Amino acid sequence: MHLHDTRRRAVVSLEPLEPGHVGIYTCGPTVYAPQTLGNMRSQFTPDVLRRTLLADGLDVTFVTNITDVGHLVSDGDEGDDKIEAAAARTGSTAEEIAAHWTEQWATDRRRLGMLEPDHLPKATDYLPQQIEMVAMLEAKGHTYRIDDGVYFDVSTFPGYADFAGLDLTEMEASGRVDNIADKRHPADFALWKSSPEGSTRLQEWDSPWGVGFPGWHIECSAMSTDLLGVQFDIHTGGVDHIRVHHTNEVAQTECALGVHPWVPIWMHTEFLNLGAVKISKSKGHVLVVDTLVEEGIAPLAFRYFLFQAHYRAQQTFSLDLVRAADTALRRLVGHAVAARDAVGGEVVAPSGGRAAELRAAFWAAMHDDLNTPKAMSVVSTVARDPELTPAERWALLADADQVLAFGLSEATDPSAGGDVTDDPVVARRLADRQAAKEARDFATADAIRDELAADGIEITDTPDGPRARRR
Ligand code: AMP
Ligand code: ZN
Repeated sequence: MHLHDTRRRAVVSLEPLEPGHVGIYTCGPTVYAPQTLGNMRSQFTPDVLRRTLLADGLDVTFVTNITDVGHLVSDGDEGDDKIEAAAARTGSTAEEIAAHWTEQWATDRRRLGMLEPDHLPKATDYLPQQIEMVAMLEAKGHTYRIDDGVYFDVSTFPGYADFAGLDLTEMEASGRVDNIADKRHPADFALWKSSPEGSTRLQEWDSPWGVGFPGWHIECSAMSTDLLGVQFDIHTGGVDHIRVHHTNEVAQTECALGVHPWVPIWMHTEFLNLGAVKISKSKGHVLVVDTLVEEGIAPLAFRYFLFQAHYRAQQTFSLDLVRAADTALRRLVGHAVAARDAVGGEVVAPSGGRAAELRAAFWAAMHDDLNTPKAMSVVSTVARDPELTPAERWALLADADQVLAFGLSEATDPSAGGDVTDDPVVARRLADRQAAKEARDFATADAIRDELAADGIEITDTPDGPRARRR
């Protein structure tokens, strides 16, 4: 397996620290608001990674966390805690806010075909470990105390700027980015935040430095090393974490635990750009898995869509692109089910020839820094290639489905003849057509009928409303 390591700025070979086992940690959600389709992309990459390693026969421990304290509105060291602010806004407790959005995130992960994490630690369950790590840093002279709390002194870690290629002199010259008085360097960061004098926060704990709460970065260092060991193989997150969050995780962990490099491979998922999408604020819409379902798009179509871009490239989201992925997924399922049913579901690994070549090409793409667009083009070839027998086609698709997770073994044929009125995509188009007819916009109504006809679907208007049948 070859993966791109952000720290070395190169694609490197994965050499598990413990032969046969790979430990992966991914920065999880801050559970104060819905986790958007963008957030889900940063969970998709480690799911694909994990599934590929499992298919390779490796033992994988996957940890991702729930940030339920410490992440400030500014992403830096000033401002309110995001959870605290959400609780104040809604009148709920911090625990209620966190539980609600954790549930949404966990449900959406499942709907997108992601495996359950082996461990899902919450920052608030790891206070002793976080406090211990801050105390270790203090004992080793890496911290200083100011009214706001305990800060990490970046001048005590010569390698601080290396991870993200920062220019600390330039940062110092351009001055403070937040309003924390007494911070010695703009890059210094909070390890422990003191509760303001005379006020009580919803979430606060006693510590050797008085009542307060942990800084955002320390939780990931404390939880990952507690669950995966002092060193582990792969740490992942979104690209926005490189300059601050992960730079700080590296600094505090390497200083506290005396290891370098702490984690050999750091993988960062690029953004899903939501710019082009119209979000209906009046409906309280943010772009989440439910938004797709309301549009008649199957959640797994979004998984298919994510496979179409490499995780290190930005990806542009639009409903039309995900609709196109939905159509492509249905075609793929149709081919898979036809091949599967032709051979009674039996999987026989290909022994040679074109089938073996295609199988190798799929895994070569996955092992090449998770080149999912290339792997998907192999899958499309497999689905249609006239040279393959149904047995070969099914064997290859079932094999690829270990990573794809489209549920091909259980799927039913989406193109089987019969009534498809209740199919979510069709139902949506029928509703659009009805609305157009009611608005006397017959051109649009006819266009929708033609589009459905092009997909092999015929509409019959009955006294009970339109029915759709696949030819
Ligand atoms: P947060 O809940 O803000 O802590 O974010 C959780 C994860 O989602 C982080 O790893 C972010 O980098 C990632 N993330 C946030 N927005 C996007 C986006 N539009 N595309 C991809 N990843 C994102
Ligand atoms: Zn983190």
